[in-house]
Formats: sequence, structure tokens, C-alpha cells
Amino acid sequence: VSERQPEPYGDPITRTFWDAAREHRLLIQRCTACGKHQFYPRPFCLRCQGPVEWVESAGRGTVYTKTDVHVETPGMTPPFTVAIVELDEGPRMTTHLVGDPVAIGARVRLDWRERADNAPPLYVFRAEGSDRR
Ligand SMILES: [Zn+2]
Repeated sequence: VSERQPEPYGDPITRTFWDAAREHRLLIQRCTACGKHQFYPRPFCLRCQGPVEWVESAGRGTVYTKTDVHVETPGMTPPFTVAIVELDEGPRMTTHLVGDPVAIGARVRLDWRERADNAPPLYVFRAEGSDRR
């Protein structure tokens, strides 16, 4: 499973996303024509090609699928869990699950992993109701 993230941080489309991430706000896009939410950021709505606006996700969702990774990966110490989380707003995002083990179908909430070298924090998810590690 490869992790897809909006990069680079200075890209015109993703700059807004990462600026908000530094404030621990998860932005997704909503089509102003059809109302559909999407992630990751694109210049227009994938469903109807309408214009999109940024909205803040409530940061709640459900684990759509996940896998435990046991191999060495740049920047990550195994084992760790890669997942696709379906946000309550609709979009599915590839992310990491942190904290207590979380089952497929379980409710999760947004959290943030701080990173080195002034990189913006990375959105991660943990079991709903669990405390910060
Ligand atoms: Zn649309």
C-alpha cells in the first residue's frame, strides 16, 4: 500500500491544505455545484467538473480497510498500520492508524503527527474515544 499525500507543500492547490494542517485543521474540498466532497485536492470537482471550495472536515470517519506493515519504510518504524478511512463527509483518505488497535469498520477520529524539519503535521486517525498517546 502506497501512501498518497498532497505534495509538495508549496503547490498552489495544496498550499491551503498544508497551511491548515499546521493549525491541525483537516481541509477537504466541496463542489459548489453538486455539493460532493473530495480528497485529495484537485482544481475542480471530479464528478461534475464544477468549482470547488475548501471546507473543514469534522475529522470523524470509519475504517474502510487497513493493513499492518512490518517492513522497513523510509521515515517509519515498523510495525505500523496503513489504512483507508472513509470520512463522514464521504471522501476516503489513505492514512495511518495510531494508538490502540482499530478494526475495519470501527469509528475513528482525526489526530495529528508532528514531523521534523518544519514539515507540516501529518493527519492520522485513532480509535474514537481513545486518548492521545
Ligand atoms: Zn460537482
